[in-house]
Amino acid sequence: MTHWRHAEATDTGLVRQSNQDAVYVDDSLAIVADGMGGHAAGEVASEMTIEIMCSGFVDHRTVEGLYNAINAANISVLNDARENPNHFGMGTTVIALGLTVDDEGVTSPTLCHVGDSRAYQLRDGALRQLTEDHSVAEEWVRMGRLTPEEAAVHPRRHQLTRGIGVEETIAVDVISVHALSGDRLLLCSDGLSNELDNDTLARLSSAPFTLEESVLQLIEAAKEAGGRDNITAVLVEFDEVSVASAPIKRTISSTTPPVARAAAPAKSIRRKRRRLSWRTPAALLIFIGVFVGAYFVVHWYAYSTYYLGSDTGTVAVYQGQPSGILWFKPIKVADTNYQVSALRNTDQSQLSQTIPEPTLAAAIDYATYLCSQAKSCNASIPSSTTTTSTTTTLKKG
Ligand code: MG
Repeated sequence: MTHWRHAEATDTGLVRQSNQDAVYVDDSLAIVADGMGGHAAGEVASEMTIEIMCSGFVDHRTVEGLYNAINAANISVLNDARENPNHFGMGTTVIALGLTVDDEGVTSPTLCHVGDSRAYQLRDGALRQLTEDHSVAEEWVRMGRLTPEEAAVHPRRHQLTRGIGVEETIAVDVISVHALSGDRLLLCSDGLSNELDNDTLARLSSAPFTLEESVLQLIEAAKEAGGRDNITAVLVEFDEVSVASAPIKRTISSTTPPVARAAAPAKSIRRKRRRLSWRTPAALLIFIGVFVGAYFVVHWYAYSTYYLGSDTGTVAVYQGQPSGILWFKPIKVADTNYQVSALRNTDQSQLSQTIPEPTLAAAIDYATYLCSQAKSCNASIPSSTTTTSTTTTLKKG
């Protein structure tokens, strides 16, 4: 029988107006979710994720049960955002630690992880990070494109490559934790890990401090360091471990699970008959006004961003959403005479996925950067127009 003791704390921090982090811990499940999205939508996403995961795991305390619970939460958050305009764009990270039972009835700790909330293991005062952040900067570290020191201050360190509520399919890191009696595990949102270095995390999380003392002083230390984000910390300590499982880490990409399909509300196919009164000009004017307003809002959103892509083998800058929105397709606004094939392999790979940028100037700057990293650069930026389409990523608010 594996058993843990636990303590947890969460705090709004010193800058944010609300706490969009959510936390849950009981005797077999611990979850931290870091929500994102305006109009309190981040709170909705993080709390919805925890609620659905708890109800999914309670009856299926297996690795598959934990993984399916994340999938179900992902689909529910996605559907809610599609149906409620106030929740548009909401999402959340999630780090979940469950005591899962295998076919032989042996209980062991398993982590499931999406986003940049983290899990650390503490043994004899030493800290080891168990999870890898799913952010652009950390992906570039793993590709050898940035050093960890560069990633820590890179502007894309908060831009997530995976999140709950982004797409119908989701890749989940599943980690079987090798735990011994006396080990502690720390789960936290980035509001803690961004403010405190590993030495401080290890010192404050370890004995002789009790679990309760540790989580409270972690929160206070993060606030003293700036408190620029919501801060959440969960500590569990194993006081009994049935079998120290072999450490296994794998990433599982989902298809939409049956349980998630069932959670999606059915579309009504019944059509209401409504008599349109052509004798009421005001109603017609309101309709036209709403339509025109919606047109301009969609048009603004469709062309509110830029990205780098390739056009007949050269680096080009496009304005718009890579996959387009309705009839608003991306427009090529600048190109270079620099050959994509001359770029570094990692840059070619990024370019094939498109590289989002907030402004035209930023896109051109980054194109120039790509050129500078190749053997030679003689790009020029004349204007032209054409169209194309590809994919995109999620940026944390
Ligand atoms: Mg955060």
